[in-house]
Amino acid sequence: MPVLNHRGNGGTLRPKHGGVVGAAWVLAAFLSICPPAFAQSPVAYHVSFPEKEHHRMQVEVTFPDVPAGTLEVLMSSTSPGRYAVHDFAKNVYDVRIDNGAGGPVQVERPNPSQWNVTGHSGAVRVQYKVFGDQLDGTFLAIDSTHAHMNIPASLMWARGLEARPARVTFDTPPEWKVATQLRTTSDPRTFTAANLQYLVDSPTELSNFTLRTFRVDREFRIAVHHDGTDAETDRFAAGVEKIVREQLAIFGEFPDFDVPYTFIADYLPWALDDGMEHRNSTILTAPYRLRLPDEQLALLSTAAHEFFHSWNVERIRPASLEPFRLDMPNPSGELWFAEGFTSYYAPLTMHRAGLWSIHEFAGRIGYALDLVIRSPARKYRSAEEVSRLAQYVDQATWSDRTNFSNHFVSYYDWGQAIGLALDLSLRARSNHQVSLDHYMRRLWQEFGRAPAPAEGGVGRPYTMDDLCNVLAEVSGDRAFADDFFRRFVRGREVADYGPLLARAGLVLRKRNPGRAWIGPVSLEFGGGAARVLQPTSEDTPLYAAGLDRDDEVLAIDGVALSGPLRLDDAVQRRRPGDTLRLSIRRRGMARELSVVVAEDPGLQLVPVENTGRAPSAAERAFREAWLASRQ
Ligand SMILES: [Zn+2]
Repeated sequence: MPVLNHRGNGGTLRPKHGGVVGAAWVLAAFLSICPPAFAQSPVAYHVSFPEKEHHRMQVEVTFPDVPAGTLEVLMSSTSPGRYAVHDFAKNVYDVRIDNGAGGPVQVERPNPSQWNVTGHSGAVRVQYKVFGDQLDGTFLAIDSTHAHMNIPASLMWARGLEARPARVTFDTPPEWKVATQLRTTSDPRTFTAANLQYLVDSPTELSNFTLRTFRVDREFRIAVHHDGTDAETDRFAAGVEKIVREQLAIFGEFPDFDVPYTFIADYLPWALDDGMEHRNSTILTAPYRLRLPDEQLALLSTAAHEFFHSWNVERIRPASLEPFRLDMPNPSGELWFAEGFTSYYAPLTMHRAGLWSIHEFAGRIGYALDLVIRSPARKYRSAEEVSRLAQYVDQATWSDRTNFSNHFVSYYDWGQAIGLALDLSLRARSNHQVSLDHYMRRLWQEFGRAPAPAEGGVGRPYTMDDLCNVLAEVSGDRAFADDFFRRFVRGREVADYGPLLARAGLVLRKRNPGRAWIGPVSLEFGGGAARVLQPTSEDTPLYAAGLDRDDEVLAIDGVALSGPLRLDDAVQRRRPGDTLRLSIRRRGMARELSVVVAEDPGLQLVPVENTGRAPSAAERAFREAWLASRQ
């Protein structure tokens, strides 16, 4: 029925502001007097692993009660929470399609991700192999120890049947258990999803993982597939519980999870470092080990980021991402908020939960500030504009040469810096009576908490104007909100961080004052020269001198360049203001470049304790109000 058909109506019927559109929605459902019997027949998936050591999965999907005409069967091109195009059909082969009873049907291929099936008599069965050997939050990973399924990388679906429930049976080795946000049934190997949006949002780990549970108001689960000990898992679970409690205090309540929230972790040597949020679960993958304290803390900070997403993006969700399209990207100008503010709250949570010291907190925040404040990309784009480029950078791959290091800076880091500026500005203006926590909680109440029209959906997604309006309301100052968005979100300015941070006894300072610097450059040594591998960065002495990718550096001040240390040695023998002579070869021609040495502009953020004085009473009080546990 079209009202529930996310794709058929292009999302326009999904209520964006509750109220009027929501009412129309209910009315439309009511007027649909007697939906055809096929409306609720589930799409049935059977998944097995006869060749798991070869990273292959066998899938059989049956679409019953198919309306007359063409059935468009698709493999997704994108995956919820990842903003790039991945064309998952590239790993699908040995596709066999019949009428559900072995009889023939006609199949056309309008594009590599789609199979158009005609000549069926109301049922279509598709059988295929799918290869997966990448362990992260986006793809499919199968080996002798497990199957780690991101659903868009694994299961086909049919256009027009998006509102149908799905029923998935995992035919696995007996020792494999199932961790998923899919709903359980009386058969321990069979699970259900209310519709396609919920199904594709339900990553599933099938392995002999270690399960831990804890209660904070309700049950939470942690499924860890790793080669560590039970004691290590216990320690990790205790850290996760602290994070959950600390973030609950920010919002005042948990989202109304559809099933117990599950942290699904694969910490294995062959895993990629990744985290991916979902409505009632998260996928955490990394090659790190829980037994190493530093690595465990890094894993916990990823868990803090992903769990914060269960409010911010899974439910406080930009209209640009709702509903999520599976056949093309959803460009979003709000990722500086959805990802960036989440990135601000991860280190904040880690400190409030007592897992990171003030030094670790300052280090992470300082990293983002250095990157954003000094990025040449701010000459060209705003935080809103870099957000819209996510499809080119979020685990995207391309084969042509690009110049992203000069015209792009991550919306994660930029958004983190904006979140910091907003939090400290609100606190400074109100003596901590209003903070970013209040803003987030208000957004939760206004948008995130609205009831979903269908499981897996969002009741009231927000727009950029909504974000600005709620800031005006929370701060009580329309001019402040408008100015903040105009300058720092839609404009290219950065806040004056030094004075904001100084109130908390944090010092933003030059990392290497007085140190000679010509800018970063990656070089490949060979054949008596050093070839430049990447575009040089704007606003550096090397760029100003004209050096760029593919240039071969032969000598510095007449001395042959024999290794990476020689370049740094040569620079460090100079002082800011001196001139270096680079002898290079470009497209076969010899040239001389003059490089005017500068002072290293790199920034770092340190507690005032590192500068030789103790924090004042006022600075300690600011830190307490900002960074102390909320519990
Ligand atoms: Zn994120």
